[in-house]
Amino acid sequence: MMEMAGKEANSAPGRADGEAFLNQLRTTFAGMKNDIPLLLFTEKAREDAFAQANRQVIRAFRELTDRITLREYDLGHDMARKLNVTVSPTLVIAPDQYNIRWIGAPMGEEARTFLELMLLVGSGNGNASEQSRKVLERIDSPRHVKVFISPSCPYCPQQAVNGAKAAVARPDLVSLELIDIQCRPDIAQQYAAHSVPVAYANETLIGQGAQAEEVFMSSLQKLEPQTIFIPDVDAEVVETDLTIVGGGPAGLTAAIYAVRSGLKTALVEADALGGQVATTPIVENYPGFTQVGGKTLVDIMVNHALEYVQIFQGEKVVDIKPGNPHEVQTTRRKFMTKTILLATGASHRTLGVPGEARLSGRGVSYCATCDGPLFNGKKVILVGGGNSAVTEALHLRHMGVDVTLVHRRDKLRAQEFLVKNLMESGIPVLWNTEVKDILGTERVTEVELFNNQTNETTVAPADGVFLSIGYTPAVELAQKIGVALTEEGYIARDAKHRTNIPGIYAAGDVEGGYKQIVTATGMGAEAAMTIFEDIINPYWQA
Ligand code: NAP
Repeated sequence: MMEMAGKEANSAPGRADGEAFLNQLRTTFAGMKNDIPLLLFTEKAREDAFAQANRQVIRAFRELTDRITLREYDLGHDMARKLNVTVSPTLVIAPDQYNIRWIGAPMGEEARTFLELMLLVGSGNGNASEQSRKVLERIDSPRHVKVFISPSCPYCPQQAVNGAKAAVARPDLVSLELIDIQCRPDIAQQYAAHSVPVAYANETLIGQGAQAEEVFMSSLQKLEPQTIFIPDVDAEVVETDLTIVGGGPAGLTAAIYAVRSGLKTALVEADALGGQVATTPIVENYPGFTQVGGKTLVDIMVNHALEYVQIFQGEKVVDIKPGNPHEVQTTRRKFMTKTILLATGASHRTLGVPGEARLSGRGVSYCATCDGPLFNGKKVILVGGGNSAVTEALHLRHMGVDVTLVHRRDKLRAQEFLVKNLMESGIPVLWNTEVKDILGTERVTEVELFNNQTNETTVAPADGVFLSIGYTPAVELAQKIGVALTEEGYIARDAKHRTNIPGIYAAGDVEGGYKQIVTATGMGAEAAMTIFEDIINPYWQA
C-alpha cells in the first residue's frame, strides 16, 4: 500500500470525505499520463457475482474518469486466445503496456488494491521506493508473479500492491496475476493456497503473508522468501521527536496525542494497520459502538490518526540503536529520534504440534476473517477457548463453515455474553480435548485429538484447522536492544510507560495487562503524554 503522509495522504483510498475525495480522484485521473484500457473476459456459462462486481466497480470509476475504458469479450473470442486468457472472469489491465491481470473482482478489501492499481497504471509510475527500485533494476530475467488474495483479507492489498508496483516498474520482465481465492478456489487448490495473501514468482513461493515493500522486491529478485532488507547507506534520514513502532490502537492513539501536543511524530507499521483488531470480525465493547466490524473500527481510527500524523506503512523496522538521538532503521530510511514508543503488540501463538508448521497456509490458519471464506461448506476445527476463539467460531459459522470448537478444558475463558451466543448457535464443542497432530500431505485432511479426561485418542477428518489460542508479545526488537522484560515476557515499564532504556517507552498489548482495544488506546494516550512531558523536561539528563 502507499505510504501515507498526514493530510497530504488523502489521495489514498477510503480516508477523505465523500465528494472532496471523489473530486480529488477526478483531478488525479484527468492529469494522468496514460489511459487505462480494461478488458473483461467472461464466459456465459459462468456469469457470476464476480463478473457483475467487475462491471459495477468499473462503472463507478468511469463516472470519475473517461481515461478508464472497458471492453468485454467472451472467453471463446480471438482476443482471449491472443492474450492467452483461459479463466473467467479475468480482467486484463492495459495489455499494450503491462502484463497485469486480475482473476476475480475488486470487491471488499480489494477495492483499495484496484484503486491503487489504476493510479499506478495511469501514472505509468510504479511508485516503488528508491530502495525497491534499486532491487528491481537488478532483475535480469522474467518473473511471473501470482498473488492469491481474498476480499475479506485486510493484509492482502499490501501484498497485491507490492506485485503491482513491480509489474508497473518493470513491464519488460515482471508480469502479475492477482487471483481471488473466493472466486477461483480451484486455482487456489492447485497451489494449496489456503491462507492469504500468498505470493509466488515463477511457481516458487516468495512470500506468505504481507511483506514490507522492499522485502517483497528482494524476495522477487532472489526468488525465495526474504525476511529482512537493509537499505543502502544513502537512504533518507528523517528527524523526529517521537517515532512510534506499531500501528495498532495503542500506536495510533499515541500518534494523535503526540502530534496534538506539538511533537514531530512518525508512525511506522510493517503490516496492516490496526493490529489484531483488523482481523476481529465484530467488536461489541468499544464505547460508542454497540457493534462494529474490527476493520471498520480500524479504518475510523486510521482516518483520525491521518489527520495528524505521517504513517510509514509497509515499512519494517529492522534495527534500533539507542543513543542521543536514537536511530531507528527501517527497510526504507532512518529516523533520528529523541524518543521511541514500542507499540508492537503481539503475534499469534502457535500450537507446536507436528503438522502445524508444514501445513501452515495449507489448511492451518491463524486468521478466520482472512481465510474463512475458503472453507465455506467444509469441515474445520477451531482451537481455543478465549474471546477470540468464540468470536471467530461464530464468524465461521455465519460464513457457512462447518465448524467445531476444540478446547483443552471444560470451561471457556471467553466473556459470558459470547459464551451464551456460542451455546445458542449450536456449534459443537469438544471439551477437554487437545490437538496432538495435524495430518495431511499437500493439505490438512485430519486431526489427531486427545481427550485428557478419558485418555482416548481419535483421528477426525478436517479440511482446516483454525488456531485461536492467544498471543505472545512481539518483543523481538525490544530484546535485541536490551529493553528489560517481565517474567511473563512483556516489556517491563514503570507507571509512566518508561522502559529501562532512557527515552524508550512501551504501550499496548506488548506491555501485557487486559489486552482490550480500549485499554490499548488508553495506554497509548498515557505514553504520549509522558513523552511530551519528558521531552520538555528530559529525566535522562537529570
Ligand atoms: P486468550 O484469552 O489468551 O485465550 C487463549 C485460549 O487459548 C484459552 O482458552 C487457552 O486455554 C487456549 N490455549 C492457549 N494455549 C493453548 C494451547 N497450547 N493449546 C490449546 N489451547 C490453548 O486469547 P484470545 O482469546 O486471543 O484473547 C487475547 C486477549 O484479547 C484477551 O485479553 C481477550 O480478552 C482479548 N480479546 C477481547 C475481545 C473482546 O473483548 N471482545 C475479543 C478478542 C480478544 P485455557 O483457557 O485453558 O488457558
